[in-house]
Amino acid sequence: MKYEPKNFEKKWQQKWEKDNVFKTDENSAKNKCYILDMFPYPSGAGLHVGHFKGYVATDILSRLRRMQGYNVLHPMGWDAFGLPAENYAIKTGTHPEIITKENIQNIKRQMKDAGLSFDWSREIDTTDPDYFKWTQWIFLKMFEKGLAYESEMPINWCPSCKTGLANEEVVNGECERCSTPVEQKNIRQWVLKITEYADRLLDDLEGLDWPSKVKEMQKNWIGKSEGAEITFKVDGKDVKVFTTRPDTLFGCTYIVLAPENKLVLEFKDEILNWEEVSDYLNKTKLKTERERISEVKDKTGVELKGIKAINPINGKEIPVFVADYVLAHYGTGAVMAVPAHDERDFEFAKKFNLEIIEVISGGDISNEAYTGEGVLINSNDFNGLDSSMAKTKIVEFLEEKGFAKKEINYKLRDWIFSRQRYWGEPIPLIHCSKCGIVPVPYSELPLKLPSVKSYEPTGTGESPLANIPEWVNVKCPVCNEDAKRETNTMPQWAGSCWYYLRFIDPKNEIEIINKKDEEHFMPVDLYVGGAEHAVLHLLYARFWHKFLYDINVVSEKEPFKKLRNVGLILAEDGQKMSKSKGNTVSSEDVINEYGVDTLRVYEMFMGPFFDAIAWNTQGVKGVYRFLNRLWDFCYKCKDNNFESSKDILREENILIKKVSEYLEEMKFNTSVSAFMEFLNFAEKKDNETSRKTIENILKIFYPFAPHMAEELWSILGNQNYIHEEKWPEYNEELTKRDVMELVVQINGKVRDKIEVSSNLSKDELEKIALSSEKVIKWIEGKEIRKIIFIPPKLISIVI
Ligand SMILES: [Zn+2]
Ligand SMILES: [Zn+2]
Repeated sequence: MKYEPKNFEKKWQQKWEKDNVFKTDENSAKNKCYILDMFPYPSGAGLHVGHFKGYVATDILSRLRRMQGYNVLHPMGWDAFGLPAENYAIKTGTHPEIITKENIQNIKRQMKDAGLSFDWSREIDTTDPDYFKWTQWIFLKMFEKGLAYESEMPINWCPSCKTGLANEEVVNGECERCSTPVEQKNIRQWVLKITEYADRLLDDLEGLDWPSKVKEMQKNWIGKSEGAEITFKVDGKDVKVFTTRPDTLFGCTYIVLAPENKLVLEFKDEILNWEEVSDYLNKTKLKTERERISEVKDKTGVELKGIKAINPINGKEIPVFVADYVLAHYGTGAVMAVPAHDERDFEFAKKFNLEIIEVISGGDISNEAYTGEGVLINSNDFNGLDSSMAKTKIVEFLEEKGFAKKEINYKLRDWIFSRQRYWGEPIPLIHCSKCGIVPVPYSELPLKLPSVKSYEPTGTGESPLANIPEWVNVKCPVCNEDAKRETNTMPQWAGSCWYYLRFIDPKNEIEIINKKDEEHFMPVDLYVGGAEHAVLHLLYARFWHKFLYDINVVSEKEPFKKLRNVGLILAEDGQKMSKSKGNTVSSEDVINEYGVDTLRVYEMFMGPFFDAIAWNTQGVKGVYRFLNRLWDFCYKCKDNNFESSKDILREENILIKKVSEYLEEMKFNTSVSAFMEFLNFAEKKDNETSRKTIENILKIFYPFAPHMAEELWSILGNQNYIHEEKWPEYNEELTKRDVMELVVQINGKVRDKIEVSSNLSKDELEKIALSSEKVIKWIEGKEIRKIIFIPPKLISIVI
């Protein structure tokens, strides 16, 4: 009987589905294990082989944990709001819901074809009103607590998508979706106060088992820095700057305002060159943030002639500039410039011929700024102090005079939480001219999307929903007067902020999640997904989770205890796989030719799970050959109702030990190698390999190649599923593969030394000695008179 995966893979998938074998029981008394994949956006292109790597890995671990006796929760769902479906709707007039449903059906079929053991009874879709009812519920809770507020603010605006973008959606100054250069535009927005959680988001990273790179990225994104806010008097007005280097204050030779800083306009009457300044402000509006902060040497700016700032530390009058390398939304929108000790200020000062005063010794400032710390010079009474002491002393000195206060600054900005688009969760608020902003009553959730004829954004900054009077015009829930609905929708990140909770209790109509079930299954024990989500989804979800903790919905402060990033599968040419490059490999093709198990085992074998590795068709064939050999070997041994030989037992125990340990560290590739090593060793010893050994090998191979394992298990005559078996234990004693050097003497002279296993019998050792080529040379044609064994490792032959 040959290995013919086509003959049985579908059969097993159907059996599993019919018997609901992967359904999670929330009333189980077993210990829980929650293994989660980052749920996908159901794109029209479906999945290619690259998408399966993470899913196969979590599937293997889920199957392992089930055999180890855990109550495993391993769900799947769809992050389905977002621009691609909406852009498709604009192009074709098809409702986004229709195309989304089609895409979901397709991807779900692909996942089932790959034999992934999800509990499909818990499937969720973020665009389903029964789901987003609770997304809206969370938003209203945040609104109640003052964490959601309206703000007119400069936002990143994509002129092509005609919508605002979060900073995270701007890549290299371009729209992440369509690569159009992003502009700045003032627009009314809903904003979530994530900054209120900055310290907790930072501090709680400590206890997480996450890749250090991801933690580092979150730390940098939050960007906490301790320093001081220092006040410069400019024409009687206060200009506040934030600095982490108050020790360099004597070297401050000018200050710079961001073009958006409202103070610029306030000084209008005093500024002598207003026309030039106003020109500059207009030019800045055309630049993207990326252009403004990029490392280009050519920094631009204009001096505000007619006004001067006073350096509070020495009373010196210094010039004031407006320059676009300073951004309005970082710090105070104004900086003190210390050209001797800051690179950007140095470049700027060189260009505009401004004074450069060295105040920190330790570097050479003739060609570049010295940005390190050191001992103060040119700083009057503070000379001789080191930087850290000087920071304290200078701030204390100014604090007494009311010119400084200690301050902690964050790079993290509040989260712009609205989109001027159709295909998102409607923000459940109502604008009433009498009552102000009024929440939609909880009893009226979900607030569904109306059907529309056109999905085109208005481009005026309002969402297409604004064009539907039947939907927009409502009665105020408080005073019953005419009022209008909020027409912005939530950003695509909203639904993924809490989906992992809903999997636990997906059909609950009366509350977001049952408390008891939440306590049982949370936190997520293992979360696997791409490294690109280091700061977006993972930071937002942590923020929402902490909020839900504060309002007593969840019992843990952090949602994802352990996080691992899956490395990409690159195309055969080493490039990233993408539909547009035409270099994707279809999972259907691989499955049709080699079977699902080959796809699964190959993706795990191709290299370390966390690395990016190129697809290799030869490698796929190699794995397919291996599965064939393993199949044949198991088949040959199926009736071996004897005990395995010592060698086989030892290798069996070593293999169980290795695979059990490697899987804990997600070393899938070395696990597969261990199976290969075993087979290389055992293949010729089918007459020493018992059926019991084969059963154990199949049990530990089952998570990798579940179809093949179930099929062989039943061929061995078992009536149950192999996955109902316990994960095999190994015997540490039996794994010892001790070797010694057997010395062979002939007539008292050493003729050979052979490495042998130390647990061999006298007869076995004699056999080995007599079959050595070197020994044969000496004894050929001679009469052996005596063979003496001197334990433990000497064989003496007398001829
Ligand atoms: Zn765009
Ligand atoms: Zn009202």
